[in-house]
Amino acid sequence: MSMPTVAAIVRAQKGAWPEHWMGCDWDEARTRCWCCGFNRRLQRAHMHPAATGGPNDPGNFVLLCAECHREAPDLDREAMLTWLRETSSDLHGDRRWRAALELLRRSGISDDDVPAAIEAARRHAEAAGTHGGSFSPGTCTEIVRRALAEVADGA
Ligand SMILES: [Zn+2]
Repeated sequence: MSMPTVAAIVRAQKGAWPEHWMGCDWDEARTRCWCCGFNRRLQRAHMHPAATGGPNDPGNFVLLCAECHREAPDLDREAMLTWLRETSSDLHGDRRWRAALELLRRSGISDDDVPAAIEAARRHAEAAGTHGGSFSPGTCTEIVRRALAEVADGA
């Protein structure tokens, strides 16, 4: 069986586990990484690896960015779902902040300003609400946008 399409994977998996286990909403699952929630080029990641007999059935895949795919377990469905649940809902974990740092760097601010921007982002994050245990992608984007605005103003 050939690799399923992104649309087929979303159709097969939508609702198979709670949305708050993911870094994005099911509505955005075709374009956002299911772990970090960022809008990146997505890879089709086997839950049960092909190397140990995992099928190319759409129900055996999650959609991950390259970075998350490298960190995901290559064991079985249960391992993938445990990792997804624990990693994507880790509000204050280093991982999510590393992703924010990457956004900050790409925004063109100097490395010297990054610590101030991270500090501002943490302050805004503490004031933000969560969505089923994790920040929604929209919240993350807004937190970073406000932090960048503060640093740009020299606040
Ligand atoms: Zn990701």
